[in-house]
Amino acid sequence: MTHEYRYSEPRAIILLGPPGSGKGTQAALLSPTLGIPAISTGDMLRRECQSGSELGHALQAILNSGQLVCDELMEQVIASRLRQSDCRFGFILDGYPRTVAQARFLDALLKSLGMPAPVVFDFRISNDDVLSRLTRRLHCKDCGRIFSMNPNGTSDEMLCDRDGSKLEQRADDNAATIRERLRLYHQNASGLLRHYRRHHKVLANRAPEEISNELLTILGSHASAPRSFTRVASATHAAYQV
Ligand code: ADP
Repeated sequence: MTHEYRYSEPRAIILLGPPGSGKGTQAALLSPTLGIPAISTGDMLRRECQSGSELGHALQAILNSGQLVCDELMEQVIASRLRQSDCRFGFILDGYPRTVAQARFLDALLKSLGMPAPVVFDFRISNDDVLSRLTRRLHCKDCGRIFSMNPNGTSDEMLCDRDGSKLEQRADDNAATIRERLRLYHQNASGLLRHYRRHHKVLANRAPEEISNELLTILGSHASAPRSFTRVASATHAAYQV
C-alpha cells in the first residue's frame, strides 16, 4: 500500500544528483502520487532534437558530447515550461538547475510565480555505480520510460511494456560521454549544494520504492508545510526497473 499526498500550497521539488542516480525514476514515481508534473529538461531537449528543427540539430551535438546547453537557452526552456498551467500546484525538477547561475535564475522565477522556496534532494551514488547503471540503461523512444538491459546484455527483443515500442540506448550513454557528464556534474555540484544549504541527502543506490518512501516521508515532515498536508490511501506506484 502506498499513499497519495496532497498539499494546499504549491510545492517546488528539485532533484539534484549525477546522471544515472535515479532522479528520472523518482520523479516518475512521485509525480502521480503528489499530483504534480515531473519535468526533465533532458527529455525536453531530446524532444527538440527529434523534431528535426535547426535548434534540435545544434542541441543534438551538445547532448552527444555530454556538454551542458548554455544557461540562456535553458532559462527560456524552464521559464516557458513552469508558466504552463499544470505547474500551478507545483512540479518536480529533474535536471534543472545544473549550475549556480541556473539556480539563481530559478530563485527569481519561483518568486515571480508566487512559488515557495524549493525542497531540494541531493542523490548520492558512486561513479562506478553510475557507469554500470548507464551502460545498461535503455529507454522507450516514444514514452521515455526507463529499463535496464538483461544481465547478459541482450536487448534486441525488448519492447516497452506500456506501448510496445522498441527500447533503445541513449546516444550519450557510452562510457566516454558518461565520464564527461560525471565530471561536469561534480564540477558544479558543490556550488549548487552551497546555494541550497537546506538540502536532503539521499543514498541513491537502493531500491526505487525504498527511496520514494523516504522522499515522501521527508516531504511530509518538511517544516514549511506540515499542516497543509494530508495522506490518502491510493494504488501502488507503477513499477520502474532502474
Ligand atoms: P543525465 O542527467 O543522465 O546526464 P539528462 O537527460 O538530464 O541526463 O540531460 C541530458 C543532457 O541534456 C545533458 O548532458 C545536457 O547536455 C543537457 N541538459 C539537460 N538539462 C540541462 C540543464 N539544466 N543545463 C544544461 N544542459 C542540460
